[in-house]
Amino acid sequence: MTKKQGYTTGALHTPFPKGDVYNSLHMPIYDSVAYEFDTSQDIEEVFTGKEVAHMYSRTSNPTVEYFEKKLKKVTEAKSVVALSSGMAAISNTLLALVEPGGNVVTSDHLFGHTYALLKDTLTSWGIEVKFVDMSQPQEVEMAIDAKTRVLFFETITNPQLEVADITALSTIAHAHRVAVVVDSTLTPPYVFKSSDFGVDVEVMSTTKFISGGAAAVGGAIVDNGVFDWSQMPALTKWSHRFAGNELVSRIRKEIFRHLGACMTAHTAHFMNLGMDILALRVDRCVENCLQLGVFFEKKSKIKSVSYPGLKSHPNYTLSLKQFSGKPGAVMSIDLESKSHCYRLMDALQVVRRATNLNDNKTLIIHPWSTIYAEFSDEEKLKMQNRDTMLRISVGIEDVEDLIADFEMALSKV
Ligand SMILES: *Cc1c(COP(=O)(O)O)cnc(C)c1O
Repeated sequence: MTKKQGYTTGALHTPFPKGDVYNSLHMPIYDSVAYEFDTSQDIEEVFTGKEVAHMYSRTSNPTVEYFEKKLKKVTEAKSVVALSSGMAAISNTLLALVEPGGNVVTSDHLFGHTYALLKDTLTSWGIEVKFVDMSQPQEVEMAIDAKTRVLFFETITNPQLEVADITALSTIAHAHRVAVVVDSTLTPPYVFKSSDFGVDVEVMSTTKFISGGAAAVGGAIVDNGVFDWSQMPALTKWSHRFAGNELVSRIRKEIFRHLGACMTAHTAHFMNLGMDILALRVDRCVENCLQLGVFFEKKSKIKSVSYPGLKSHPNYTLSLKQFSGKPGAVMSIDLESKSHCYRLMDALQVVRRATNLNDNKTLIIHPWSTIYAEFSDEEKLKMQNRDTMLRISVGIEDVEDLIADFEMALSKV
């Protein structure tokens, strides 16, 4: 190989793990639970780890394996695991890395269910969680102690749209031998190369940009292969047989297998299709988002617009650098009041009222009264949520239609 291939060429032409018996050009859906062996010796070799083969689809499946291979190719990672959801990717990673008594340093600007996973579920299993302001590196450094195993944050938070200075945060974590785990859902591999910014493990909800039109729920763990896992108390047992690949070995052979967090072959099929055309969709979403943002900035009924691709965003320069000039397609706008937000939402005819992100369709939601409904007003304010705010995830429609829809809806506010 001479020159490194681009994202789309790489994704489209990732070779199958094994030749297909019918020479099919597209990876088939291998919808089988179990796989047959010719002899009893063959099956023993696989169960004892001397040979590698699929045996049961909770632990591995050919269509899922191909999705992992595609993701590994485009991220140039050491290992990739596909899982049943983004939440499974996050929980499996943290359960594999942090022992009871160990802690995670993170921010309270997180996807709502991730925040609840950390605050309620992991805490109840003896994992300590420290919430700090990720925009203040000194605060992050002060929170790290001898029991800190992971620094966890999102590349761009939602709905606050705060952009992490990933290199600065990784440098602090690594100075204390803490692993950097980043949720990159809003900035998929086509725009964000996590290893360039010191990220050790990327976790993502492939439900969003990757699935291609919100076709299926899924997640992935990407180990860039740079962190020395033999340093991690929770992984020392795995160093003996799996040196260098302790994290993914523990996930595959223990956590993921025992929690049953597997992706199905049908889901992997959607992910494989979605990966192929990801770049086309992302480019269009980003372009639409930018144009809508510029339109919103001229509207007096809109009090503020937040999108890292706009010059008005405080992290504009950092975003361009980290995300190849394409900082996702989620933005937020503030109106005068909650009732104005509801009136705008209810008048829209093209834009859909729905949760989910990075669908092909443009989606709008009032986070305060929905995604964050389970939290107290005080907690919501702490998470920089406002009842005057709407979150918009911009899709691939013809942008004139989106602008016309908002123009019409704003006239009703
Ligand atoms: C949606 C989302 C998740 C959770 O992913 P699921 O696939 O719904 O489990 C995690 N993090 C972020 C940033 C998300 O947007």
